[in-house]
Amino acid sequence: MSNATKLIHSIPVDKLTGSISVPIYQTSTFVQDAPGVNKGFDYARSNNPTREALEHIIAELEGGKTAAAFASGLAAIDAVVKLLQSGDEILAVDDIYGGAFRLFTHIYAKFGIKVNYTDTTDVANVIDAFTEKTKLVWLETPTNPTLKISDILAISAIARQNGALLCVDNTFASPALQLPIRLGADIVVHSATKYLGGHSDLTAGLVVCRNKELGEQIKFIQNASGAILSPHDSWLVIRGVETLYLRVKEHSANAQLIAEYLQTHPAIDKVYYPGLKTHPNHEVAALQQQGGYGGVVSFTLRQDTEAAATAVVCGTKLFKLAESLGGVKSLLCHPATMTHKSIPVSKRQAAGVADSLIRLSVGLENVEDLLADIEQALNGLPAIEQWESEPVVAAAVI
Ligand SMILES: *Cc1c(COP(=O)(O)O)cnc(C)c1O
Repeated sequence: MSNATKLIHSIPVDKLTGSISVPIYQTSTFVQDAPGVNKGFDYARSNNPTREALEHIIAELEGGKTAAAFASGLAAIDAVVKLLQSGDEILAVDDIYGGAFRLFTHIYAKFGIKVNYTDTTDVANVIDAFTEKTKLVWLETPTNPTLKISDILAISAIARQNGALLCVDNTFASPALQLPIRLGADIVVHSATKYLGGHSDLTAGLVVCRNKELGEQIKFIQNASGAILSPHDSWLVIRGVETLYLRVKEHSANAQLIAEYLQTHPAIDKVYYPGLKTHPNHEVAALQQQGGYGGVVSFTLRQDTEAAATAVVCGTKLFKLAESLGGVKSLLCHPATMTHKSIPVSKRQAAGVADSLIRLSVGLENVEDLLADIEQALNGLPAIEQWESEPVVAAAVI
């Protein structure tokens, strides 16, 4: 049976009424027959039938044993860090999501959890960066916003040899393209705010575990810390996931064409997209991501200035200027002044987030319309000869 069929039929029909849509159990508590005698639910923080339905669907989709749903992607990441003890260390991808960096640096450092960052795109760096205290390896692949690819299979073997867990933030690829648990990961986290929800109408997070014991620890943390996903938002994620394969396939096909087009445009310097043969880890991406390379494309301008980038991000009409990604409407953002603003300039530039870097979240509009929109925005930039003589020309800035 195909994955799409399996996914659609993993969404249960309600046993009580036959409702084909999962009911939203908007309740805080559940009536008990006698103390401790209940129908599997006692209090809505601990468990809720709508949330439980979502958790089962996602566990199956990711090939894990259990899943737990949280109020945001960061709440899901937070729950995974809570598996650790003071004195433990995390070995993390250097191009990590800014919110995860902030959580590690400003919250968990206070509790004695240290994070060592390394460029995980080269497996040798991962081996070198291990210490005796490394208990958790943290990968994102592809990364945000420069779409770096790390080899999950190889790194999972290294983590296992060193007695550490491997957690993969699978937000960018989504389970439609990449199944980290099949490649050896112990834990998968998601910002379901992005492709799983898929419609830019909620925030949610998920943690999926390879085995039952880890899953029980995460469930314990979910109940003990309480950052649960509401019944209504659980329902919205289920609703989004129904069309995951269809959407991600289309997002990827549109993004591939846009990345190829950008490579040919004279105003563009670099294009970051794992589906391009010129991507340094294209071969790894081709092996571990099946069915496409995702909907996010980043690029820099030959005129590498904030003014030129501002002209482009304000010059598109269909691509709306906003943070976030993964919805049906195309979005674009300027990481240097938006998502990565809090990172010191030298550190940001070293990570490849140049002044002119622009990130696209390619949506589900017709690709010809999207290409025309990008073209008219790029053509609004001053001609190349002009940039060379007068570097910062902000004529097109709105
Ligand atoms: C957005 C995002 C997060 C955080 O998720 P929220 O739902 O915004 O809390 C974590 N990881 C990645 C890769 C993301 O893109």
